[in-house]
Amino acid sequence: MCGIAGYIGSKNAQTVLLDSLQRVTYRGYDSFGVAVRNGNGIRCQKAVGTVEGGRNAIKRVEGTAGIGHTRWATVGKVSEENAHPHMDCGDSIAVVHNGDIENYVELRRRLIADGHRFRSETDSEVIAHLIEAHGTSDMLSAVRHAVKEIEGSYAIVVLHEKADELIAARQESPLVLAIGEHETFAASDAPAVLPYANKFVYME
Ligand code: GLU
Repeated sequence: MCGIAGYIGSKNAQTVLLDSLQRVTYRGYDSFGVAVRNGNGIRCQKAVGTVEGGRNAIKRVEGTAGIGHTRWATVGKVSEENAHPHMDCGDSIAVVHNGDIENYVELRRRLIADGHRFRSETDSEVIAHLIEAHGTSDMLSAVRHAVKEIEGSYAIVVLHEKADELIAARQESPLVLAIGEHETFAASDAPAVLPYANKFVYME
């Protein structure tokens, strides 16, 4: 099982995300990644191996909103390209996903026919392109439309380069939000964010 982390607040998002991911490594994983909004766009960095061993190779990015993931490969081999987050064609949307999308083959085929360029073999990448296909001016509505097309299990957290928000959604896979002082966290499991917050909302 993978681990998801999301952060929006006033701290350095990358530090919080890497700490959170390191706290849920008991869930098992083969690779990891983080994406942070830094004012010029989204900086996405990934690596195969452990968070502990690889986090020093991740360049520090200044930004207070971001998402992170520890992957347990189910669709596509273990590789840096297949590690999450996954991005849309324009690099303006980043998504982390835990679960399995059962209809990803049809969705991927349709999106490629519509001109989307895929960079990984995963089922998860279709989510970023589906959101992009639904337009990026109203992210909440685009995510709502995108998840309606997905069959299977998912917990997702979405980051957009322009919107000052994270969007989370789930079906079957776990996702908890943690509310701190002027900051919000998303995680697969409460231990990821225990040091930062004590108010939890388990998403239905
Ligand atoms: N199915 C996705 C993948 O293989 C997500 C796996 C996970 O939950 O870690 O990348």
